[in-house]
Amino acid sequence: MIPYGRQEITEEDIQAVVEVLRSDYITQGPVVPRFEERIASYCGAVRAVAVSSGTAALHVACRAMGLGQGDRLWTSPITFVASANCGRYCGAEVEFVDIDPATRNMDIGSLRMELERAEAEGRLPKVVVPVHFAGLSCDMASVRELADRYGFWVLEDAAHALGGRYRGERVGSCRYSDAAVFSFHPVKNITTGEGGVVTTNHTELAEHMQRLRSHGITRDPEHMVGEADGPWYYEQVDLGYNYRMTEIQAALGETQLERLDDYIQARRERASRYAELLSGLPLTLPEEDSNSHSAWHLYAVEMSLDSVREVRRAVFEELRNCGWGVNVHYIPVYRHPDFARPGSDAKRFPAAEAYYQRALTLPLFPALTERLQSDFAEDLGQAIAAARPVGSA
Ligand SMILES: *Cc1c(COP(=O)(O)O)cnc(C)c1O
Repeated sequence: MIPYGRQEITEEDIQAVVEVLRSDYITQGPVVPRFEERIASYCGAVRAVAVSSGTAALHVACRAMGLGQGDRLWTSPITFVASANCGRYCGAEVEFVDIDPATRNMDIGSLRMELERAEAEGRLPKVVVPVHFAGLSCDMASVRELADRYGFWVLEDAAHALGGRYRGERVGSCRYSDAAVFSFHPVKNITTGEGGVVTTNHTELAEHMQRLRSHGITRDPEHMVGEADGPWYYEQVDLGYNYRMTEIQAALGETQLERLDDYIQARRERASRYAELLSGLPLTLPEEDSNSHSAWHLYAVEMSLDSVREVRRAVFEELRNCGWGVNVHYIPVYRHPDFARPGSDAKRFPAAEAYYQRALTLPLFPALTERLQSDFAEDLGQAIAAARPVGSA
């Protein structure tokens, strides 16, 4: 099966990991802080806090923003469940804002309208999590404007967008947000096996997240409630977690990061090749906008046929039979039974629903060859022709 995405591990990666394994520290050593500095400097942010997953990164960021019971977190429904679960871990209510059909990101017009309504009803969100779907940045300048007006924290779920740009700056610079979260799961743009990081320009937020990833413990007298009892002393000042990244993971991340720009270039090239190969098919293809350079984490098309539901299913099954690991990103989060609650029925999200009925994610990763791409395009064309309802245009 040719997957929709996959990691690349080089001899250099293996050497870096082996070196850590032979060293004194396999966790809590010098490599994690060095990796954090490199990520911060790559993104153009003041600080980076590395953790055990993108999900953990979202969780500590929400905690550090003070999200808790009685609060609300708003996010996009077209995302992985983790973007929403972080709110629930904190005891907050999670609500969704419909997407913009063109970018598949949170729709700014809908966000503005929902905020007006929420203000009138006294239920404004404390944290808003825009998701940069497929690596294309959300309209962050507009989100910032609304955040300043309504007073919510902006947490970017940039799990798809490491290496992407928005208004000339790298995603993760946090110019328009309070923090940005990345994931290093093997399917993402670079990997540490499992892993994640939060970038931010708020030093205090960074320090709070550092404590939360390590049991809420501090050794810094400045953060202690009491007096240090002696040189051995530390205090738990907050209920934290063990969300630390290991040295082994960080070493892999460092060498992967050196190749990130090459990977993004390779993804861009493959995305434009798809645009050429698929231009004759009845599909809506993903596009960039004038503000954003996508990191092209996913290449998600939409079928533009009648009876799309059946056609999409038939095309999906035929491609899987041919050995192509196509996928659907994502099942709208509110559709999951564990999210079912009053006010989150599908009818409230027409754009997310329309997208979900038509979406198909194609294979896209740096090692995908030209040959494979044109073979895929051919199989996709045939699968669509075969699945087309009789008599349709
Ligand atoms: C992958 C992903 C996450 C979670 O990252 P993990 O490292 O797998 O925990 C969160 N949000 C989005 C949009 C993702 O794609």
